[in-house]
Amino acid sequence: MSQKQTLSFQAEVAQLLHLVTHSLYSNKEIFLRELVSNASDACDKLRFEALDKPELYEGQPELEVRVSFDKDARTLTIADTGIGLSQQEAIDNLGTIAKSGTREFMHRLSGDQKADAQLIGQFGVGFYSGFIVADRITVESRRAGLPADEGVRWVSGGAGDFEVEQITRAERGTSVTLHLRDDALDYLSSWKLKSIVNKYSNHISLPIRMRKEEWKEGEEGKGGEHVLTEEWETVNQATALWSRPKKDITPEQYKEFYKAISHDFEDPLAWTHNRVEGSTEYTQLLYIPARAPFDLWNREKAAGMKLYVKRVFIMDEAEALLPSYLRFVKGVIDSADLPLNVSRELLQESRDVKAIREGNTRRVLSMLEDLAKAATDESASEEDKGKYATFWSEFGAVLKEGLGEDFGNRERIAKLMRFASTTSDTPTVSLADYKARMKEGQEAIYYVTADTQAAAANSPQLEIFRKKGLEVLFMTDRVDEWALGHLPEFDGTPLQSVAKGQVDLGALQDEAEKKAAEEAAETFKPVLAKLKEALKDKASDVRVTTRLVDSPACLVVTEGGVSLQLQRLLKQAGQKAPDSKPVLEVNASHPLVQKLDGSPNFHDLAHILFDQALLAEGGLPEDPAAYVKRVNALLA
Ligand code: ADP
Ligand code: MG
Repeated sequence: MSQKQTLSFQAEVAQLLHLVTHSLYSNKEIFLRELVSNASDACDKLRFEALDKPELYEGQPELEVRVSFDKDARTLTIADTGIGLSQQEAIDNLGTIAKSGTREFMHRLSGDQKADAQLIGQFGVGFYSGFIVADRITVESRRAGLPADEGVRWVSGGAGDFEVEQITRAERGTSVTLHLRDDALDYLSSWKLKSIVNKYSNHISLPIRMRKEEWKEGEEGKGGEHVLTEEWETVNQATALWSRPKKDITPEQYKEFYKAISHDFEDPLAWTHNRVEGSTEYTQLLYIPARAPFDLWNREKAAGMKLYVKRVFIMDEAEALLPSYLRFVKGVIDSADLPLNVSRELLQESRDVKAIREGNTRRVLSMLEDLAKAATDESASEEDKGKYATFWSEFGAVLKEGLGEDFGNRERIAKLMRFASTTSDTPTVSLADYKARMKEGQEAIYYVTADTQAAAANSPQLEIFRKKGLEVLFMTDRVDEWALGHLPEFDGTPLQSVAKGQVDLGALQDEAEKKAAEEAAETFKPVLAKLKEALKDKASDVRVTTRLVDSPACLVVTEGGVSLQLQRLLKQAGQKAPDSKPVLEVNASHPLVQKLDGSPNFHDLAHILFDQALLAEGGLPEDPAAYVKRVNALLA
């Protein structure tokens, strides 16, 4: 490429650019954080590539970022001595969005400026945030190792297209020049720029340099002014935050660091920072966010952990550092023992990494335990009291995956779970709370699974439990049934679904009730036989139950069977579901059931009974039209 070329942005970029400039208006200054962070990434990349190709330094090992401005030209420049961009890389990396999930991200935007700004923040708009303050951006760059005449200039006004041309550039690395908009001229100030660097980029381990200012007295009594000198001074702390002693780091600095690595606008809920010494030596800095990212459910999605080895950046998204059920955690691990050239594959097998992962897991769980404790601690601040509820509503369902994934920590995870129940509208009931208020003679922890809390609360299967004043936990997350399958008991008490197997309330049922039920079953036998015959394609069995009080019938599955709820979820997900037929249980004292015997409409009534039980439980009759016809025939 020697001539100037005009290329179009990928459609999504154009759309994103429009959003960026319109939504991030109230948070303009983040552009500097993003550009400095790119410069720092570029230096990290060079340092890493130069591990086995030292010639990439071209004899100039100094890695740094320079921020400068030109008042007359109204420009602000962020320059680095990092890896740089080749011509093709400039086209690819600055003209398209390579990140997966962009489309999904776009769909989530609501048009509400505040909410969107938050989403954009999470997503990390990066380079394009320059257009919040600039109406034109010029990037000049040369990739380390390429000849001087293979530099590139990239220019765009942030609308539909950009220009690229080949240039000669002696120095490696990238300089990004922002041509400031009229309403952004206040960034042409050392003081202002320094204060932003201080706020967002202090932790960056690279020196960020600016021209030193000097006070020059005015002539003959006129006012003086600040003038820039030729000397460059370092304006950030330039040590990796995590390598500094805890006592020297303020909460504000921890929070800013979190925002820088997570692209989150909000403060984290909690963090932990430790130097771990033992069989393997490392520093860990882990954060629990306050809000779930939009792609939390994507299990393939990379984890939010950065790996460093002796301060050298190795990789982002190091998923081996945490189990998948803790993928919401963000942070940094700096290992003293791993080799610098460690690959993802190697990470999976490394014994050091295994120790780090276990150490991280323990730390995260104890952070969560502390948050949970604060929720009921009288002396905790109102803010701290609310944190666990926030965590649970954002990430509880992910944490539950740990029941199946992390056998060794199952007990600890089980203690962290919270549920809504027949006695609590909010998901605040722990299994320990439940146990503490179990009735005399109660032998199990009862729960019901459903799509929503309302559906759970109205399950016919709950009727007898309500009548007896027994608490039932509501399981309304998709993962619940799978997760609970890995938790047969808690602290010695079995967990029991109210929709599985026969109800056996054991000691809680009095003799008279049991006897009445047995008698009803006996006299009802002939009707049951007819019901079974009529419904033989739909129900695996029909029996009389004591679990119903107001409803005529309900569906249950056999002990150890897959619930109807889970069968539906599996089918929706396109997976093979075991097609096991449910058991229809009928309430022998219900008028509708009593009407069955000798009714000329027996066949229709039987099917209505079954289909209604299915509806009550969140399912759909196999043949909805036939159901409607049958009901209408009876109504008429
Ligand atoms: P991200 O940093 O999350 O990858 P950005 O939008 O901030 O996304 O940057 C997009 C890409 O542009 C980067 O991944 C990188 O390849 C390239 N880039 C941006 N700034 C620089 C720079 N200063 N030096 C080298 N490459 C850069
Ligand atoms: Mg970036």
